[in-house]
Amino acid sequence: MGIDTNIADYDWTAALAALAWQAELGVTEVMVEDAIDRYALPDKQEPVLAKAKPAAPVVHEVAKPDGVQAAKDAAGICGDLAALRAALATFEHCELKKGARDLVFCDGNSHAGLMVIGDAPGRDDVVASKPFMGAAGQLLDKMLAAIGLARGNEDAATSAYLTNVLPWRPPGDRDATDEEIAMMQPFLARHITLVKPRVVIAMGNTACAALLGQGSVARLRGTWAHAEGVPVMPMTHPTDLLRNPAAKREAWADLLAVQARSPK
Ligand code: URA
Repeated sequence: MGIDTNIADYDWTAALAALAWQAELGVTEVMVEDAIDRYALPDKQEPVLAKAKPAAPVVHEVAKPDGVQAAKDAAGICGDLAALRAALATFEHCELKKGARDLVFCDGNSHAGLMVIGDAPGRDDVVASKPFMGAAGQLLDKMLAAIGLARGNEDAATSAYLTNVLPWRPPGDRDATDEEIAMMQPFLARHITLVKPRVVIAMGNTACAALLGQGSVARLRGTWAHAEGVPVMPMTHPTDLLRNPAAKREAWADLLAVQARSPK
C-alpha cells in the first residue's frame, strides 16, 4: 500500500505525525512524484569496477651486494698491475675504502723474484703511499738486505716487490676482519698472478689467512706452502719481531730458506 504525499507541505513535526499516521494505516512504501517504470531497461552505464584497494607498497628485497663476487669479477679482468690498481681504487664494496685517505698499492720492482705480502698500511705508509715505510718496514729492509735484496734495486735479481692484503689503512690499525680478507683475496691472487714471483713471503696472520686460508703464522711459519701456484713461506711479521726480538732467530732461518729457494 502507498499514499501519495508532498513532503514540502509539512514541517518536521507534521511530517513525523503524517508518517506515523500513514504507518498506522498500513503504508508500506513511499510514493514519489513520478512513477517508476521498473521494467524499463537501465541506461547503459559503464560497469562500476570494484574499487581497487590501494596497492600495498612493493618491498623489493635489496640484497646486500656480494663484495667477494664483485671482487672476483673486478680482479679477474685485470690484465696488468695498472688495471689492478685502478680496479681497487674504484672498488666500493669494502667499508675500509670509505674512511681511507689513500690507496697503498705496492713498492719495489714488479719483476723481482721475491714478493713480500704484509697485512695493511699504517700511518707512515699512507703518507708515503708505499707499504712498509714505518718501523716494521725498516726492519724488513734489514731482513731483505741480510739475504742480498733491496726493494729499490732496478736489477730484478736483487730486488723485492712489496704489497699488502689490504690496500687501505684500517681505523686504529686494527686487524683485518674475515670479510675484508675474503673481499681482498681475489685482488691479491690476481696480484700474484700478474707479478709472477718465484717465491712469496706471507708476513703475519693476515697474509697467511688471505693466501693459505689459515690465520696462525705461529703454527705455519717455517714450512713451505703454495698459493696461486707459487711457493709461499709464512713468516713472523716484522712488527711482532720488534715486540719479541727472540723470534728473530726463527725468522733468520726462514729467510735463509727463502734465499735457498733463490728468488733470483
Ligand atoms: N706496513 C705495511 O705496509 N704492511 C704491514 O704489514 C705493516 C706495516
